[in-house]
Amino acid sequence: TNTRKLGLTGKILIAMCLGIIFGFIVRYFAPESQFVNDYVTDGVLNVVGTIFVNCLKMLVVPLVFVSLVCGTCSLSDPSKLGKLGGKTLAFYLFTTAIALTIAISAAVLFQPGDSGQLTTNLSYDAKEAPGLADVLIGMVPTNPIKAMTDGNMLQIIIFAVIFGFAVSHIGERGRRVASLFEDLNEVIMKVVTLVMSLAPYGVFALIAKLTLTLGMDKLEGVVKYFGLVLAVLIFHGMVVYPVLLKLFSGLSPLMFIRKMRDVQLFAFSTASSNATLPVTMETAEHRMGVNNRVASFTLPLGATINMDGTAIMQGVATVFIAQVYNVPLGITDYVSVVITATLASIGTAGVPGVGLIMLAMVLKQVGLPVEGIAMIIGVDRLLDMVRTAVNVTGDMVATVIVGKSEKDFNIEIFNDSEAGKTKG
Ligand code: ASP
Repeated sequence: TNTRKLGLTGKILIAMCLGIIFGFIVRYFAPESQFVNDYVTDGVLNVVGTIFVNCLKMLVVPLVFVSLVCGTCSLSDPSKLGKLGGKTLAFYLFTTAIALTIAISAAVLFQPGDSGQLTTNLSYDAKEAPGLADVLIGMVPTNPIKAMTDGNMLQIIIFAVIFGFAVSHIGERGRRVASLFEDLNEVIMKVVTLVMSLAPYGVFALIAKLTLTLGMDKLEGVVKYFGLVLAVLIFHGMVVYPVLLKLFSGLSPLMFIRKMRDVQLFAFSTASSNATLPVTMETAEHRMGVNNRVASFTLPLGATINMDGTAIMQGVATVFIAQVYNVPLGITDYVSVVITATLASIGTAGVPGVGLIMLAMVLKQVGLPVEGIAMIIGVDRLLDMVRTAVNVTGDMVATVIVGKSEKDFNIEIFNDSEAGKTKG
């Protein structure tokens, strides 16, 4: 029958549409109802949606640790890790630089902010942007268990790599440990596919709740900002990434985009690269054909430090706020925006709304009024969803390109449109 042919992607899309329709119907028939608010929005929808996101988050730390230990101990030549890390970092920085350049140029060109359009006087607290030294020191955990309970991805990555390296250097005992980790990896991957099959329910709840709570009136005054960020995000995802993929790996961008759909839908509905990580890793290994050796390293790293979509929002927002407050920005300010935005993204995890916190650091760094954030906060939720989809796409493009160039890549899996497809 039909339902059997309908894959997970189809089911998630239907769930999204149903969520929106449900939200609008309830809004129409019971506007501002206390009952709806208590029992539907904050009740059932909140419970189902949050449980779904928590199920994904629950997998992140064990998945990253186990899979990265597996990945590291299967590296025959440890010097390869340095090469792999170097390439990945270079590619992440490169794509973020492109993203920021396009975003800042577009904002300078299209002038989304008119001076004096500020209508709000909310205040917003900015944290100091971390310095390079702090970022470096913060990468090594003093307590790996604490790193795991905090979900500190960089620290977990460092510990897993050192651990995996040791496993591969103690002979027979190491081989036993390695095979234990491989078995554990299979178990966790199985849980990932189980949780993925719950996605239609979770996505319905998340989208319905969003439709019920989102105030469209907030869009007024920042329509241009909203539209410009959206346009640059779509351009980056639909043009820049496919071109880079073709250029650096010669692979079919169409196949890539097709296989990215599930990951993007998860990212869009959860607004968190971290929560999406289990799905991203599953897709990279089973659908894109990237070997675990590469994917287990590049993807957790990317979810933490590579946020091109967030960079785009920051670029446009900085110029927008400067225009509103009539502060001229010079080339050194733009350079400073790029550096601060990049450093801030290394130090902050991919969770919902973190982009605004990073933006506050950037504004402070270039001496722009941090209160400007109050203007764009109302539309940030929707942009957060879209930029998270861009963020995870950027991680995957890099992973496929690096995987192929390191020959840790199975082109037959990549070209087979049915490979590893999750049944809903
Ligand atoms: N939510 C984004 C992510 O997880 C980060 C952000 O831009 O707020 O990738």
